[in-house]
Amino acid sequence: MRIDINPNFPINNCKICGIRPVVEQTKDRWTILCPNPTCRNSVSDKIVNVPAWNKQNP
Ligand SMILES: [Zn+2]
Repeated sequence: MRIDINPNFPINNCKICGIRPVVEQTKDRWTILCPNPTCRNSVSDKIVNVPAWNKQNP
């Protein structure tokens, strides 16, 4: 299940595509990922790790 991030919430775009990421929840993981299906840019953690995503996508 993919969740759009609130547009008011500051988060960096994918550094490759320039697209705003979305959040996906699996059993015990939260993944911030680029919605572009050919792009594998993502950050997976037990929390929605926005700092890690922003560090990876400066
Ligand atoms: Zn991307």
